[in-house]
Amino acid sequence: MKTYRINEIFYSLQGEGRHTGRAAVFVRFSGCNLKCPFCDTDFKTYRRMTAREITEAVSKWSDCGFVVLTGGEPSLQVDEELIEALHGEGFYIAIETNGTCPLPSAIDWVTLSPKNCFVDHAPALAAKKIDEVKVVFDGIHDPSSWDMASVPYLNLQPCDTGNAERNREVTRHGTSPCKLRSSSTSSKGDCFYYFCSPKEYNSGNIKQMKRWMLLV
Ligand code: SF4
Repeated sequence: MKTYRINEIFYSLQGEGRHTGRAAVFVRFSGCNLKCPFCDTDFKTYRRMTAREITEAVSKWSDCGFVVLTGGEPSLQVDEELIEALHGEGFYIAIETNGTCPLPSAIDWVTLSPKNCFVDHAPALAAKKIDEVKVVFDGIHDPSSWDMASVPYLNLQPCDTGNAERNREVTRHGTSPCKLRSSSTSSKGDCFYYFCSPKEYNSGNIKQMKRWMLLV
């Protein structure tokens, strides 16, 4: 019987992106195909669980109706069987992925957090359906190349570089609504970074805001 390597399953509030503030069950998968220099996620330990065992564990919090598949890199393991089992219990399914592996098409919400520029020889982007993008901003790599016209929600997350002074610079760069010169790879010209609270974010005025949201 197929099993999945699960690092942890827990209930919390979604703290990032379009679904900020929404109660969710998080399923953290073990393992990743990249080695980002700033990664501080514990995804190495795991226990093996079947789709049924995962669904039973998640269903303890079925009232929230929202599950977030994360990692590590969940797309290395998530398949149609698991998605069908979670949908069968009435969950809306979101995934947070680096986008390097194809995804089951029935996933309801895809957050792409591209890491290709941080590692050598990263696989090309394979995810097709993308609902929002969350770019880790290290003050070096230009995030505007991920400003895809078809993606309505763009989020910028300051990188924890491991150096306090550099972290201050990175955050300062993003938090005052500011204009950065985009790279020659961007066809969009200049891009803007906009700081907002979750309340503003959920107020429905998304179209009046600048395209990029800063996650803090
Ligand atoms: S893709 Fe995410 S989980 Fe994988 S190494 Fe990078 S930051 Fe860590």
